[in-house]
Amino acid sequence: MLSYSVSQKPYDALVIGGGPGGSSAATFLARAGKRVLVLEKEHFPRFHIGESLLPYNHSLFAEMGILPKLQAAGFPDKLGAQFLLGNATRGIKLAFRDSRFARQTRAFQVERSRFDQMLLEHARSSGAEVREGWTVRRFTRQDGHVSVEAHADSGESAVLNAAFLVDASGRGNMTGNQEGLRVVHPKLKKVAVFGQFEGVGVDEGPTGTDIVIVRLANKWFWLIPLSATKVSVGCVMDQAELASSRQSSPAEVFHQIWQSSTAMRQRMQHARPVNAMQTASDFSYHNRRLAGPRLLRVGDAAGFMDPIFSAGVYLAMNSGKLAAEVVLNSLAAGDDGSPRLPLYERRVSRAMKAYWELVEAFYTTPFMELFLQPRSPFSLHDAIIALLAGELDGGWALSWRRRYFFSLVKLQRRFRLAPHVTFADPHPG
Ligand code: FAD
Repeated sequence: MLSYSVSQKPYDALVIGGGPGGSSAATFLARAGKRVLVLEKEHFPRFHIGESLLPYNHSLFAEMGILPKLQAAGFPDKLGAQFLLGNATRGIKLAFRDSRFARQTRAFQVERSRFDQMLLEHARSSGAEVREGWTVRRFTRQDGHVSVEAHADSGESAVLNAAFLVDASGRGNMTGNQEGLRVVHPKLKKVAVFGQFEGVGVDEGPTGTDIVIVRLANKWFWLIPLSATKVSVGCVMDQAELASSRQSSPAEVFHQIWQSSTAMRQRMQHARPVNAMQTASDFSYHNRRLAGPRLLRVGDAAGFMDPIFSAGVYLAMNSGKLAAEVVLNSLAAGDDGSPRLPLYERRVSRAMKAYWELVEAFYTTPFMELFLQPRSPFSLHDAIIALLAGELDGGWALSWRRRYFFSLVKLQRRFRLAPHVTFADPHPG
């Protein structure tokens, strides 16, 4: 029988999870002078996938006061994104600075173990209490506060109370699972196989730190330079395809797929793995509710999408900031947050939907046919590049261009507005 110690003095906020979403929420709250506790089940540094950030992350880093530390840490600067067909017949190099709508034009490529630890340490030095090795199992709403049951890997257990709970448990989706809210995307049931390599071919010069996305018929690769010598390479494919493969291991499937693609062979022919290959399930989902009285879900605990456009960390930190604002305003008003939750839901789901629309389109051929065009009328590409940089506002100037671009994608199904692409590889290895 477990015995619980019960914390006497309630916190202003409890945060479940010390990833980017939890660390940013905790930092904003602690910097506002609130009593915050972060419970993180792992001990940092710990491995995490998700290494390519968006330029608009920089604004959040600056607001949190961590930008100078990150700039001094030597993470490679990502200036753009390259999208190629696996057969190397078509491709496009996008530079964020070329979009007239992108207000931030450089991002970091990061090893998450180090990056996440820096963010969590920053939350701590901003005044948040952080307990690593503590797993939250359940939450309950009580009169005027919320409680969680938490277990330490040392064997200790505690019931902890706070005015507000921020669930930043990532794909662990702690409170969403407890409330049965998770809705899995019916089509995007993917799995990722990935590892880090040396000897991968990248561009010479400033585009050498771009993220490179290589699109095959129903799957895609990422190549993310993490240092002068090390590149993260991963393949996202249907889970059913991996499960039905006759290869004996995911690493062999990965190897076979990159060998079947001309564009990947050009980059991987001299590659040597520097660690063991890993797999991660990559099912896109969202929770039916993103908030409730005294509870806000941020980052992947609100929803997760296929990572083609590298928006996960940015969305996690952005929602962490928005959740902190709701908590601060609700503490000031002395209520349970209810008056502010609808706006929080709208803002977080609007941001997620903007990328979901792009992700769903990415798996269609007409989208690729238009997207891979070097130019488009009315600066349509600039509007898409701005979204890829993290521009979630931009008003009418951006929204009509995005709508217009997606209308053209629909028309491309029936009329040939842009040349057709084929995914067949004339030189399949
Ligand atoms: P997390 O970073 O997952 O942090 C959650 C934390 O909560 C973890 O540290 C976990 O240990 C802790 N936790 C979980 N449950 C509990 C519990 N019950 N109690 C206490 N602690 C708990 N995003 C990008 O921006 N760029 C990319 O290039 C990118 N590539 C990706 C590739 C793949 C294959 C996948 C699967 C994802 C990728 N992502 C990428 C998405 C990105 O990893 C996530 O969106 C991001 O990490 C979300 O941050 P978070 O803080 O919400 O969750």
